[in-house]
Amino acid sequence: MGFSSKLISWYAKNGRELPWRNTTNPYIIWLSEIILQQTRIEQGTPYFHNFLENFPTIEDFANADEGELLKLWQGLGYYSRARNMHKAARQIQTDFDGKFPTKYEEVIKLTGIGEYTAAAIASFSSNAAYAVLDGNVFRVLSRYFAIDTPINSTAGKKQFSEIANELLDKKHPGTYNQAIMDFGAMLCKPKNPLCEECIFRMDCRAFQTNSIQSYPVKLKKKPSRNRFFAYFIVEEDGQLLMAKRNDSDIWANMYEFPMIETEEELSISALVEHNEFKFNFPSAIIEQLNGMVKQVLSHQNIYAKFYRITNPENNVLKNSNWAFYNSENLDKLAMHKLMFTFLETFKKLP
Ligand code: SF4
Repeated sequence: MGFSSKLISWYAKNGRELPWRNTTNPYIIWLSEIILQQTRIEQGTPYFHNFLENFPTIEDFANADEGELLKLWQGLGYYSRARNMHKAARQIQTDFDGKFPTKYEEVIKLTGIGEYTAAAIASFSSNAAYAVLDGNVFRVLSRYFAIDTPINSTAGKKQFSEIANELLDKKHPGTYNQAIMDFGAMLCKPKNPLCEECIFRMDCRAFQTNSIQSYPVKLKKKPSRNRFFAYFIVEEDGQLLMAKRNDSDIWANMYEFPMIETEEELSISALVEHNEFKFNFPSAIIEQLNGMVKQVLSHQNIYAKFYRITNPENNVLKNSNWAFYNSENLDKLAMHKLMFTFLETFKKLP
């Protein structure tokens, strides 16, 4: 039996039961695929159900308000995914007469959809013969064939894509794609793969040469950039001062407390001497509320501290992106994880 037939028969007995399987509806496949990018299945599943319940069709999704989408997305991170989905849904209304496309060449034109997602949607919805290439597939193929070309290099992407498409079962591409991804997630796992029970152990070059941990090979990433955010909590008559982020940085258009960003950590005395602080909160009393919180994003580390500001003078609203919101209604605003995690603690503070 060849690679793909072995894989498909393994999948028939062992494949995962997932709520977005057994459908050919491209909208449902798209929803699940985008939600599950950089997200674990256990974390993404409730979001998938919630989105489908709130927006049963692509038309409902297109007609949603962006704030509403971001609010539902809250906690998943990588918010550009939600914004791109919104754009794609609107593109489908205008360019595809409201019907979600299933042809690879059309799907790939949608905002936020790359080669992997286009192959998944086209193969699962219309059995189009495109091999998916995600982290699982790279890992399985690199180990099985002991390929040491870095998977995140241009040459690697080309080489693995050619092999993946050669191995693809052209009669059952959707099933094959699901099978190889499940196999990578369940057996050929990143750490401690279950080689002893693997159907490929006799043919797998990495296993045969006892070199599993050497694959896949990756080029080293650039070091992450550090950013220091000092957040200021200004409360007035049960209202909190909130700022809307701009749309050219992380967490675009989301809400948070007003803040000052610096390239280094500032002591509290250096912070009150900062020009932006003096401009926005002259003669304010400042109190630090927590230690440093770190959030790791792709290519950057965010270090945040939160301060309570009292007695700010009247120019706090000089900034047009700032406004007071009733603290009871903050849960209606789309906020990033640093904010809503802090707010949970803040509610308990005296
Ligand atoms: S033998 Fe081990 S490394 Fe090779 S394909 Fe199977 S699980 Fe992966």
